[in-house]
Amino acid sequence: MKLSAYRITANKLRTTRIMDVKTENSNVKTFTFKDKECAKAMPGQFLMLWIPGVDEIPLSILDVEEDGIVSIVVKKVGEATEALHKMRVGETVGVRGPFGNSFTLNKGKVLLVGGGTGITPLLFLTKKYASKPAKLVFVIGAKTREELLFVDELEKLGEGNLIVTTEDGSYGIKCLATMPVEALLTKERFDMVYTCGPERMMLEVLNLAEKHGIVLEASLERLMKCAIGLCGSCVIGKYRVCIDGPVFTASQLEEVKAEFGVSKRDFNGAKIPI
Ligand SMILES: Cc1cc2nc3c(=O)[nH]c(=O)nc-3n(C[C@H](O)[C@H](O)[C@H](O)COP(=O)(O)OP(=O)(O)OC[C@H]3O[C@@H](n4cnc5c(N)ncnc54)[C@H](O)[C@@H]3O)c2cc1C
Repeated sequence: MKLSAYRITANKLRTTRIMDVKTENSNVKTFTFKDKECAKAMPGQFLMLWIPGVDEIPLSILDVEEDGIVSIVVKKVGEATEALHKMRVGETVGVRGPFGNSFTLNKGKVLLVGGGTGITPLLFLTKKYASKPAKLVFVIGAKTREELLFVDELEKLGEGNLIVTTEDGSYGIKCLATMPVEALLTKERFDMVYTCGPERMMLEVLNLAEKHGIVLEASLERLMKCAIGLCGSCVIGKYRVCIDGPVFTASQLEEVKAEFGVSKRDFNGAKIPI
């Protein structure tokens, strides 16, 4: 299919009904619905979810199934996400997408570093790796035990392949997620690093990967409205995160280092610190 035709299909708003809602913790829920277009998504891609009467927001895709079932993980942070958290099975939402690029699959030894809901596209990626000859090590970090997501799911990676950190020490190692990353990269040779989460964490992971000469891909978040590269809300340097990303390589991040982990645009287009 030609790219233009693909975009027109993906960008058409479809309505669908919420099929399942799972509470992950007091601020995070997983929602499941049917959408044939988004079910074609690859790890790293996102969708725009319209919450009727409230807003339309970008969300990473957690998983897709062959029968068109799609799931997303949503943290309650403001008006739209709070309204979505109040919605129940059977209620209608709108969907556009999937949008953006996706992570590149590699061979060998792979390190994944996720913070908060940033773990979502990385978890999807681990499923794609299931059929690849690769060894996966996953580092997840959160402020507290309550905020840790999908630990049970990730434990399936096997003993020693999941490292959990919390800032308050309520679970796993008491430190930032970047601490074990530094130790791992110093001790072992990895072929690829993927990261998604708070931007300062990703900047630190980028610096560590570059220090050890390892290929990196990071998934970025910016304010997004159109999702098709027209409005410019998500601009970082010469890139528009919605169509040039959200996944960026280390060399692309080097080009935008004046803004990566430093600033982003607010709803008025003004640059604000991260
Ligand atoms: C590519 C991408 C993937 C994302 N994936 C997830 C995910 O898997 N799970 C998840 O919980 N959140 C995800 N987000 C963030 C999510 O879009 C925002 O939390 C949501 O838009 C907030 O809306 P609100 O009305 O509840 O909050 P608001 O009251 O509008 O704002 C609260 C905070 O969210 C930020 N925000 C608001 N609107 C947007 C927007 N349109 N784009 C980006 N940030 C915004 C604001 O800067 C502010 O810090 C993703 C964002 C992007 C760009």
